[in-house]
Amino acid sequence: MTQRAYNFSAGPAVLPEPVLAEVGRDLLALPNAKASILEISHRSPTFKEILAAAQANLRQLLSIPDNYEVLFLQGGSRLQFSMIPMNLRADGRSADYILTGSWSKISQKEAQTGGDTHVAWDGSDTNYSALPSNTDLRLDTDAAYAHFTSNETIHGVQFATEPDVGGVPLVCDASSDFLHKPLPIERYGLLYACAQKNAGPAGVTIVIIRKDLLERSRDDLPSYLNYRVHAEAGSLMNTAPTFAIYVVRLVTDWLINEIGGLEKMHSQNRSKAKMVYDVIEASDNFYVGHAQPECRSLMNVVFRLPNEELTEKFVSEAAEQDLVSLGGHRSVGGIRASIYNAMPVAGVAKLCDFMTQFRDANCG
Ligand SMILES: *Cc1c(COP(=O)(O)O)cnc(C)c1O
Repeated sequence: MTQRAYNFSAGPAVLPEPVLAEVGRDLLALPNAKASILEISHRSPTFKEILAAAQANLRQLLSIPDNYEVLFLQGGSRLQFSMIPMNLRADGRSADYILTGSWSKISQKEAQTGGDTHVAWDGSDTNYSALPSNTDLRLDTDAAYAHFTSNETIHGVQFATEPDVGGVPLVCDASSDFLHKPLPIERYGLLYACAQKNAGPAGVTIVIIRKDLLERSRDDLPSYLNYRVHAEAGSLMNTAPTFAIYVVRLVTDWLINEIGGLEKMHSQNRSKAKMVYDVIEASDNFYVGHAQPECRSLMNVVFRLPNEELTEKFVSEAAEQDLVSLGGHRSVGGIRASIYNAMPVAGVAKLCDFMTQFRDANCG
């Protein structure tokens, strides 16, 4: 078998090896269907069972209450940037946005089409290295909803707890930290995540929405863009992304059966992240983290080296040791190590050893 490197890509990203092995084993024919997951109808009993299992697993892992729908949609998180205002801002009210990095900025920009937005906080003056406290937020108590990004994949800042937005429905882009820890779902109006960071492959986006909010979806919306239509059709109004949903089912099986739930996943994630931040802190400013310590992401560790030349050398020497996709996002530069759920502790340990050796060899 081809050797696998440790893959620190921000997304599509590393998947659990047992999941990939199972996909490979069953790709020609699923045990009961005698056909491939790539070949069967989205309305076949076999696929309906997979869809139901994926949903049941998510409900179990996140303790999702009965008054929430779980939808499996296409179009990525980017389509949610538009669907959310189209559906939830129906009666002409404005929507609040908390701007903590590139993704929340794009989501607000997208929501400016067809209605009003209001910026409740903007971290641009620290180049998005900090997060607001509840008292920093300038909220509109009449807003249709308040949107935040729980983990900024590019800037590497992550909320430890949900911002308090009072009685306004809280909407969360959880694309890059979905399933990394348990969540109090009842605090959310809507939470969405494309699968390809922490929950599966590209092609499906999970939307968890409180049922009363479905009443806001107007009948004159294009049907694919209407949450109520998807909820009524059980995510099968058209051909669902069958393969992606199948893999989400396997990833959630893995979280339940092999990891032992999201509390355990969270504690593994905390210790993996601490390993890397500890190396950064012990480096005598050779490595400089982007995020302020109290809002460091457990998922995307973003840091800089003293100069561009050393950064390039770091990325290429790491790749020679099978530590791949460590280059930072083009807008921020530096290094980004994405250490999602599926990144093994051994991969993080190998990265930490490499970082220590690289510093010792290059700190001049
Ligand atoms: C990757 C990402 C997106 C965009 O997801 P797509 O599926 O490519 O549309 C949005 N928000 C966050 C936080 C992300 O990490």
